Amino acid sequence: MLPQPSPKKLGLVIDLDTCVGCHACAVACKEWNDGGQFGPLPDENPYGKEPLGVWFNRVHTYEVEGDGRGERGKGKRPSEVAADPNRSGAAGRAAKADREDRRANAFPSPISPLPSSALTIHFPRSCLHCETPDCVTVCPTGASYKRAEDGIVLVDEDKCIGCKLCSWACPYGAREYSEVRGVMQKCTLCVDRIYNDSFEEVDRQPACVMACPTRARHFGDLGDPDSAVSKLVAERGGYDLMPEMGYKPVNKYLPPRPRRDGCTSTAIPAPEEKVDFSTASPLLRWMDRILSR
Ligand code: SF4
Ligand code: SF4
Ligand code: SF4
Repeated sequence: MLPQPSPKKLGLVIDLDTCVGCHACAVACKEWNDGGQFGPLPDENPYGKEPLGVWFNRVHTYEVEGDGRGERGKGKRPSEVAADPNRSGAAGRAAKADREDRRANAFPSPISPLPSSALTIHFPRSCLHCETPDCVTVCPTGASYKRAEDGIVLVDEDKCIGCKLCSWACPYGAREYSEVRGVMQKCTLCVDRIYNDSFEEVDRQPACVMACPTRARHFGDLGDPDSAVSKLVAERGGYDLMPEMGYKPVNKYLPPRPRRDGCTSTAIPAPEEKVDFSTASPLLRWMDRILSR
């Protein structure tokens, strides 16, 4: 059962403009939440080809197709070649429809227009601490719950029977089942950090927020319109992920800022570096000779 909506809504704001996909947040999350075979976030086959295990935060990277405005002076893109009117009618029409369909669905926000040039988006994904999440209401044991005081969604692992109903109910793929422990786990919003009186005030932030080298992650009360995070969301047009699902996620994403039009086609190549080895030391001249073979 869900509690009455609380005025305090703690969550994250993630800036897709400045996230560089370095995975520092994911690693810091794993580290804080105690990675390793015997920790609460057990790894399976950590040094194998497919290191599996529980991660509360995962970073995905996508290439978003541009609308072509930034492609002036370049050749046709593969999709345009496929939609060439000279190609046989049905194939050309199908390719064009496919291209339009991909454009319509290419960007994660309905608010943001397509970028003019192709863009790489790094998309960190963790629990969004939704206001009306079915992951809580479907749980048969009450293990999955939402806190009344601050809206954080948690799992009581002592009550979890590992039925996985909650992960089916989460449209964001934010729940992580531990094969080793047989329970469901998820982002806790670092509840053990943010209220930890033994930390300096400045350190009472989620581990992922503290670790982000580009300050792409922000933490705060999204229920308070005067909080820094709420102002950031208002300024930058922050949006809900998949609002059509009706889960009302508390976490918000900030869209990438528009890139300069044509920047890909006018990129200036880096100047070739010329080194005069005739004046270099004998050792450098010898290395140059060896490496130039
Ligand atoms: Fe539940 Fe998924 Fe929403 Fe988190 S993101 S509260 S797991 S529905
Ligand atoms: Fe509840 Fe655990 Fe089942 Fe999820 S897997 S619905 S938390 S009992
Ligand atoms: Fe992990 Fe804490 Fe960030 Fe959640 S808030 S993704 S638990 S580091």
